[in-house]
Amino acid sequence: MHSGPGRFRDGARYAQGGHMKLPVLKAAAESLAIVVQKSANVKIGDVSTTYLGTVSCVDCAYRHTTKEGDEGCYAENGMVGIHVRRLNRNVRAAHASPVRQAEAEARGIDALKARGQALRIHTSGDCPTAEAARIVADAAERFVARGGGTPWSYTHAWRRVPRKAWGSVSVLASVETLADAARATRRGWAVARVVPQFSGDKAWVEGGIRWIPCPAQTRDDVTCSTCRLCLDDNKLRAIGAGVAFEAHGSSKRKAAEKVSCAR
Ligand code: SF4
Repeated sequence: MHSGPGRFRDGARYAQGGHMKLPVLKAAAESLAIVVQKSANVKIGDVSTTYLGTVSCVDCAYRHTTKEGDEGCYAENGMVGIHVRRLNRNVRAAHASPVRQAEAEARGIDALKARGQALRIHTSGDCPTAEAARIVADAAERFVARGGGTPWSYTHAWRRVPRKAWGSVSVLASVETLADAARATRRGWAVARVVPQFSGDKAWVEGGIRWIPCPAQTRDDVTCSTCRLCLDDNKLRAIGAGVAFEAHGSSKRKAAEKVSCAR
């Protein structure tokens, strides 16, 4: 059992028992993935989480869009951005394929202490191939088997990766339009979508889907750990529901990416 920040031969880094502290930042100098025992994001609660470089987000319109006056991708800004930019540099320097990145991420997941906490896969990053998704999903299932809580994620790669590649992991397809919501639904995905504004905290029906506003955005006392809506994509599909996130702040694009990539 690992007890502190460290690294693996393949370049995955892990951190036990804390936020993304300086030792992890240093340890990330050559890494392809970061796996953190306890997320620093108060909105998702007491969960473990993983990070890949945004070079893996091949289907996301927001990656690499950060520029003056428009913060673009959430994961490429602030503290997360420091790690993500380093991961991107490392992936490019190593010519690391999506599978190799997924293998590094999987080894990080395998090193987590499993104490019933949920696992938020891909605070940044994505699995753009079925093989990569299967590798990470297998690691998530091993995490559950040794006592971990529910793993969940979001993906922009729902067109190229079949839902079954993610196995029992709850994964929502991040869509931008109602037409894509319908396409993703037909392919077996539950869906998540950013809307400009909520009209209230009640669900509404649009495009044949019952959109439920993310409770963490409408109430102060909710985290993903207590809400768990996104942690059960089977249920969302069964009731014909999707999760809606409200874009907000000075940059709608930033908010949209924050929701679809980092929530
Ligand atoms: S709807 Fe999803 S993102 Fe929002 S609080 Fe619930 S689990 Fe978290």
